[in-house]
Amino acid sequence: MNKNYDVIVAGGGTAGCAFAYTAGKLGLKVLLVEKNTYLGGSITSSLVIPAMKTSSNAINTDFFNKLYSELSKINGSITYQDGNKGWFNPELTKIVLDKLMLEANVEILFESKIHEISNKLCGYIVAICDNNLNSKKDVLLEHIETKYLVDATGDAKICQKLNCDFLNTEEEVQPVNLRFIMSGININKFSKWLTKYDNDRDVTTCCSVDGYIMLSTAYTWDTTKEWALKPLFKQAIEEGIITEEDSNYFQIFSVAGTKDSIAFNCPRLLDSKGTRSNLYLNGRQSIHRLSLFCKKYLPGFEDAYISSIADSIGVRVSNRVKCRYVYTKQDLISGKRFENPVVISNYPIDIHSSAKNKSKLDKVYQEYQLPLESLIVNDNLFVIGRCISADFEAQAALRIIPSCFSMGEGLAKYIASVKGVKKSI
Ligand SMILES: Cc1cc2nc3c(=O)[nH]c(=O)nc-3n(C[C@H](O)[C@H](O)[C@H](O)COP(=O)(O)OP(=O)(O)OC[C@H]3O[C@@H](n4cnc5c(N)ncnc54)[C@H](O)[C@@H]3O)c2cc1C
Repeated sequence: MNKNYDVIVAGGGTAGCAFAYTAGKLGLKVLLVEKNTYLGGSITSSLVIPAMKTSSNAINTDFFNKLYSELSKINGSITYQDGNKGWFNPELTKIVLDKLMLEANVEILFESKIHEISNKLCGYIVAICDNNLNSKKDVLLEHIETKYLVDATGDAKICQKLNCDFLNTEEEVQPVNLRFIMSGININKFSKWLTKYDNDRDVTTCCSVDGYIMLSTAYTWDTTKEWALKPLFKQAIEEGIITEEDSNYFQIFSVAGTKDSIAFNCPRLLDSKGTRSNLYLNGRQSIHRLSLFCKKYLPGFEDAYISSIADSIGVRVSNRVKCRYVYTKQDLISGKRFENPVVISNYPIDIHSSAKNKSKLDKVYQEYQLPLESLIVNDNLFVIGRCISADFEAQAALRIIPSCFSMGEGLAKYIASVKGVKKSI
C-alpha cells in the first residue's frame, strides 16, 4: 500500500523547518525531505548568523520564538543589538531543530531528495531517492502520496521538476558568500583593541551580555565608505597576504555560547556566474588568506585557527517561481496592504553587488506585507523561502531569516485551515 501524507515539504532549511514544525503541531501529517544530514539550511550549512532584526509588528513569529527559547536553554542563543534575539549558535541550532521536529511529529528523511513527481487528481505522487543503509541499491524509490507539496529548497528545485513558470531572473545576480568560523581567539584582547581602533564606532559594536563579550564589525572596498579597518586591509594587500578581491567585503559577528569564536560573513565571491565547484575552490583559498590576515593584523587572533567552513555557499538570490501574485518593489515601498499577509517586515532592500560602490541597503519607511498568494503556485503546490514570487528588489528585502520563518509558519496555518484541522499549537 502507498504511504500517504497531508503534506510533503522538500528542504528542511529556514522556511521549511518553520513550515514543518507548525504544520506538525497543527495536526497535519508531514514528511520533510532534506538533502543534507541535518536541518537548518542556510542557518546551519551556510553558517548564516545572526537572524536580522525586523519589525516589532511582525506576524507568524511563534516558530522564531520557540527556536529562540529552546536554544536559550542550552546556551545557544543570545539577545544583542537592539533587542535582536536572532543570535543563534549554528551547531546547537541543528540539535534543537531535530528536537522540535520530533516534538511536532514530523517525519524526516535526511540525505534524500524528491526524485520524481506525478500529478494525481488532487495532489501528487512522489518518488523519493535516499541513502537508506539497508538498501542494496544507490537509489531507493518509494511511491508516496500527498495532497500538498511545499517547495522550500531555496532554489525552487521541485517547481523546476514540475515545469512551473518562473520569473525572468537571468540578469539578476548577487554574489554568494562562503562563511567560516575562527576559534582560539582572545576575545577580551580583541574587543579592547577593536573599540579603541574604531573609536568612531562607525560599524563596530561591542558590549558584554550575560558574561559574554558580544561584538561585530565590517569593512568593504567601496570607496564611498571609510570604515576603520581600511589601513589594515591596504597594508595586507601590499604585503600579498590577501588579494584585493579578498577585501571586497569583510564582516564578523560573535557566536552565541562561545567565548573564543567569531563568525565571518565572507569571503564574498564575485564570480557568481561561475560553477559552484569553482566557488568552493576559490572560497576556501580566500578563507585561508583571510585567516592569515586576522592572525597578523588583529590583536587577540595570534593563536586563532579556522574551526569551521560552511558546508554550503550562502546563496542570496536564485530561481523564483511565478505564483498567483508576483510581489513587487512598488508593493513593498508603498506598504501595500493585503487580505492575507504572511509576513510583515520593515527590513531594507539589501542588494550586494560584485562592482565597487554598487551594493545598497535602501531603508524602507513603512512596514510592508507579503501576501499568501505569492506562495501559491496552485491549490496543491506552494513555495516558501528565498524562491518566492517576488521581483529582484522585493526579494532582497524578504529573504532574511525571520521573514522566511514567517512564510513557513503562515503557509502551514493556511493549509491547516483549508484542510480543516483544528489542533492548536
Ligand atoms: C551570504 C548570506 C548572508 C546572509 N545574511 C543574513 C543575515 O545576516 N541575517 C538574515 O536574517 N538573513 C541573512 N541571509 C538571508 C537568509 O539566510 C536566507 O535567505 C534564508 O535563510 C533562506 O532560507 P530558505 O528557507 O529559502 O533556504 P535555506 O535555508 O537555504 O533552505 C533550503 C534547504 O533546502 C535543502 N535542499 C535544497 N535542494 C534540495 C532538494 N532537491 N531536496 C531536498 N532538500 C533540498 C537545502 O539543503 C536546505 O536545507 C543571508 C544570506 C546569504 C546568502
